[in-house]
Amino acid sequence: MRVSQVLKENVRNEAPSFSFEYFVPKTSQGVQNIYERIDRMRELTPLFVDVTWNAGGTTKPNATTTNEMITKINKSYDLDTCMHLTCTGMPREAVDKALKEAYDGGCRCILALRGDAPLENEKWDAAQDGFLYAKDLVKYIRENYGDHFEIGVAGYPEGHPEEHDRDLLIGHLREKLDAGASFVITQMFYDVDNFLDWVKACRESGITAPIIPGIMPISQYASFIRRVKWCDINVPTEFLRALERVKDDDAAVREVGAELVTEMCKSIIEKGGIYHLHFYTMNLEKSTKVILERLGLLH
Ligand code: FAD
Repeated sequence: MRVSQVLKENVRNEAPSFSFEYFVPKTSQGVQNIYERIDRMRELTPLFVDVTWNAGGTTKPNATTTNEMITKINKSYDLDTCMHLTCTGMPREAVDKALKEAYDGGCRCILALRGDAPLENEKWDAAQDGFLYAKDLVKYIRENYGDHFEIGVAGYPEGHPEEHDRDLLIGHLREKLDAGASFVITQMFYDVDNFLDWVKACRESGITAPIIPGIMPISQYASFIRRVKWCDINVPTEFLRALERVKDDDAAVREVGAELVTEMCKSIIEKGGIYHLHFYTMNLEKSTKVILERLGLLH
C-alpha cells in the first residue's frame, strides 16, 4: 500500500479513509493495553496506523519501543504501519539501526521528522554526526533504501514554534517533499478556514502531494486547553463558547467535543475535497470511534 496513491484514488472516487496515531506508553503494562486497543480498533479499518518516536521531547521510554510496536502491529495485527522517526539525539548509527529494524519488521512507511527538543534542553540541537532538518533525514532514507519506504513529513497550517512566516515554512515543506517525501500530515488544528487557506497556499507554491489533516478529538477540557496552548493553535470562538459552558462535566465535554470535531471533519471533506483524516487518538478508542460513527465512515 502506498499512502499517497490511495489518497489520490480517494479523491477521484470521493471515498474517505482515515488513519490512527498512537504514542508509546510509559510502562510495559501500558504497552500491553495499547496492543489490545489497536487490535480492537483494527476492526474500524484504518488505512494505516502510525507510532510516535519519543514525542514531546521525552527520552523515556526509549525509542526502540517504537520499533517493537511497529513490528508487532505489522506482523500480529496485519495492519499497514507508518513509523515516526526523528533526528533528536540520533547519531547516524542510531538512525541506521532504527531503519533496519523497521525494514526487517515489515514497515513500508516512515514519517520523517526533525523531532522536538529533549525536555531538559530549551533549544534543539543536532546530534553529533546526526541530521539538522527533517529534509536531511528524508534524503538519507531515499539514498539508503531507494523506494522501499514511502516517506511522509509534517506540515504546520498555523506556523511552527520556531518559524511563523507562512511562506518560509511552506518553502521548507516543499524542500522536504523535493528531497523524496510523498505526503504531508499536519499539526492538529480546529480552524478549518485557516487550514483550507493554507492548503491553497501550498498548492499555489507548487506542492502537489496529498495533505492529510491531523485531527485531535476533544475528550477532556483541561487537556484540550493544555494542548492548544502547547501547540499555539487558534481555537474558533464557537468551540471555546460551547466547551466552556460544560467544562466541569467530562461527559458533556466529550459529547460537545465530538459534535464540534465531527462538523469540522465534514467541512474538511465537503469544502476542501480532502478525503483522508488522520486521528491523533491519544491512545484512546472511544472519542475517535464516535466521530467516525457520526461521519458515517464505519461499516
Ligand atoms: P523540520 O521540517 O526540519 O523543521 C524544523 C524547523 O526548522 C522549522 O521551524 C522549519 O521552518 C525550520 N527549517 C526547516 N528547513 C529549514 C531550512 N532549510 N533553513 C532554515 N530553517 C529550516 N516530534 C517527536 O519528537 N516525535 C514524533 O513522533 C512526532 N510526530 C509528529 C507528527 C506530526 C504529524 C507533526 C506535525 C509533528 C510531530 N512531531 C513529533 C513534532 C515535530 O518533531 C516538531 O514540530 C519539530 O519541532 C519539527 O519537526 P519537522 O519534522 O517539522 O522539522
